[in-house]
Amino acid sequence: MTRVKVSIRCNRCGERFVLRGKKEKGRIDTGFKRCLCDNEHDFQVDEGNV
Ligand SMILES: [Zn+2]
Repeated sequence: MTRVKVSIRCNRCGERFVLRGKKEKGRIDTGFKRCLCDNEHDFQVDEGNV
């Protein structure tokens, strides 16, 4: 398991969130559920180092 910093940008309203997550088997888990605008699926996710 690797800890990563993840920036998530909402493709609907443009809001950005920076979170810490963990990466496991190529999947990133941040616990992030949805944006303020109720978007749950349409995001651009960028992963960086913590
Ligand atoms: Zn949004």
